[in-house]
Amino acid sequence: MGQATRTTKLFLDLGSPEEGGANSGKRAYLEETARLLDAARAFYVTFFLAHPDKLEEKVSYFSQQLQEERERLISPNELLSWAESLTVETHAHPHPLPTYNFSERFPDFPFIYRRSVIKDAIGKVRSFLSNLATWRASGKKKGRPGLPGASNHPTLYDDAFSLDLDGADLHTCFARLKVYTGASWEWHNYPVKLSRYFEARWHDPAWEQQSPKLILRPKTAALHFSQVKTVEAKKVKASKEDPHLVTVAVDVNVKNLAVITVRQDGAIIETIFVSDHGLDRHRYGHLKRIARKQWQSGTPVKGEHSNQQLWEHVRRMNEDAAHQVSSRIADVCARYPGCVLLFERLRKIKTKGGSRSRRMNRRRANQLRGKINHYTRDKAYAGGTVTVEVNPHGTSQYCSRCGAKGERFSSRGGKRIKAKWGKLFGCLQCHYETNADFNASVNVHRSFYREWHWQPRTKPPPKAAKRGVGRRHVRSLQL
Ligand SMILES: [Zn+2]
Repeated sequence: MGQATRTTKLFLDLGSPEEGGANSGKRAYLEETARLLDAARAFYVTFFLAHPDKLEEKVSYFSQQLQEERERLISPNELLSWAESLTVETHAHPHPLPTYNFSERFPDFPFIYRRSVIKDAIGKVRSFLSNLATWRASGKKKGRPGLPGASNHPTLYDDAFSLDLDGADLHTCFARLKVYTGASWEWHNYPVKLSRYFEARWHDPAWEQQSPKLILRPKTAALHFSQVKTVEAKKVKASKEDPHLVTVAVDVNVKNLAVITVRQDGAIIETIFVSDHGLDRHRYGHLKRIARKQWQSGTPVKGEHSNQQLWEHVRRMNEDAAHQVSSRIADVCARYPGCVLLFERLRKIKTKGGSRSRRMNRRRANQLRGKINHYTRDKAYAGGTVTVEVNPHGTSQYCSRCGAKGERFSSRGGKRIKAKWGKLFGCLQCHYETNADFNASVNVHRSFYREWHWQPRTKPPPKAAKRGVGRRHVRSLQL
């Protein structure tokens, strides 16, 4: 059993008031709120850094299971009460520490926000202290972990936020937030950009809602809802014992973003090619333009970002493509319940050689492949499919039909040209000819089932073999 997580975003409508958006004052409140929360978090980060021993305090408790006194690390909730008793003025504790008087520094601070910043601060300081301890133990001189920062996106707990989506039409749907106006804390209504897509995800009973975070960007403001779902998935070892197991293999490439093959009982029962629809070419055009502009403008100004819109466009294209391809793959998995999804462990497509823009494009293509892998894993897991990474060795070099070594080639004007970049694969042994990416995708199944030469390594490879990748793996089949 495991947990799948996803984020569902709800954008606040901060457009011009005539068009139904909130006024600019309301936007300023959100920024004020985030700023004040950062200041409060900084206060508690300093406070906990000044009391590092307390964070490592051991608390003794009585274990019912073992029937004896035991020790454990102090919990965040206990730390929170302790910190509040020292810094916040109450009837029970009328005199907070003079140097850390939170009530004086931040009057009227809502307690729900205070608790969220204290919890954030505990997390930040704890991770800093553990990093510091690791660094000290390593004995290195460089790389001392930096002090924890205080900025974070505000988390909106129940008492600081409510969502009213039951209005008859879109104009009556609001998110109610407790915000700081610069002088006091007030409740304000923010219109939201509601969509059917959001509503479907929001009402989905399979996903449990968590408190949203307020994400402020230069031009937008959004609430990010984290949703979790408990997933019951079989262990791969158990799945592998099923003689009629369905495996879905994906070969991620550049032009064919994904070649999906489905195999059952030793036969390929479905194949889907997901093309990039010219994305690689299109991106290359943009990168060429960026490279030319950089060349024309000479040495870049330090600390200044150039071609921001173009980079943003390229980034967004990659992001969109990754989500689309991963959805396609997850859909295929959903059609075969209980299947296992197979990916190759990612190899790098070398960025060496070619023009500057070509290298930049290769790098982006690599990033895209990584993203597809990552997103697919998450989406498939939410549907109950487990992903396995298989040994990528030789998937593009060996014949998927007989297992012999073959060659990549391309056919131009009816002539067969042997080339590494060739779109086709030809077997020298059985003369099977097919699309090279399809061949690789079928071989991913072979690698999972350890067929032919895809055997686990029996002994560590000899040192000399490091130069030739092929020799690192034992070939069991005599050809
Ligand atoms: Zn063959």
